[in-house]
Amino acid sequence: MSRETVFIGFGSNVGDRVDFCDRAVTLLSLLPHSQLAGVSLLYETEPVNDGSNPGEGWFLNGVVQIETDIAPKSLLSVLREIERSLGRDQDNRSGPRTIDLDILFYGRRVINEPDLVVPHPRLHQRRFVLMPLSELDPLFVHPVRQRTVNQMLAEVDDRSEVRLLFPQPSTRYGSRPTCGPRLDS
Ligand code: AMP
Repeated sequence: MSRETVFIGFGSNVGDRVDFCDRAVTLLSLLPHSQLAGVSLLYETEPVNDGSNPGEGWFLNGVVQIETDIAPKSLLSVLREIERSLGRDQDNRSGPRTIDLDILFYGRRVINEPDLVVPHPRLHQRRFVLMPLSELDPLFVHPVRQRTVNQMLAEVDDRSEVRLLFPQPSTRYGSRPTCGPRLDS
């Protein structure tokens, strides 16, 4: 097993969105064979109509960075399990969502399988993903596009509104100072 740096995007647009995001991050921080390496701030984002129908509610979005030995497919199953446990409606996956979890990057691996595409195929088109990613690792290079996160952010066409949530909630999964990139490993 080799430890990889993985970025996971999360979003919620129904119910107590802060609580759903907080619980998702808490569960991700407890994964076996893994270590939480960073959590972005929370952003409030306008719903983007890109084929799905997420409803009227604005999203809260953020990104988590973990170091993990969990293989990509297993990680995807774990994310689906977390979504289920937080009450996502599996029969209407494109509808309003308590929590949505996506694998954005899995190290520098490129995966093209029917149920898993990594890097996430739309991440470079979404400011609500690129902004929190750029907090965590602005110089991370997209292994297919060969652009850094900051370059993609500068080039993105997405004009939908993405604003920092204010005030930021205090969280259960740890105080903010532990959530920057770790320098000691
Ligand atoms: P969504 O409803 O937007 O959360 O999409 C979930 C579906 O996308 C799942 O059935 C996954 O198999 C598939 N999928 C493909 N690539 C990814 C990825 N990088 N991260 C999460 N889900 C993915």
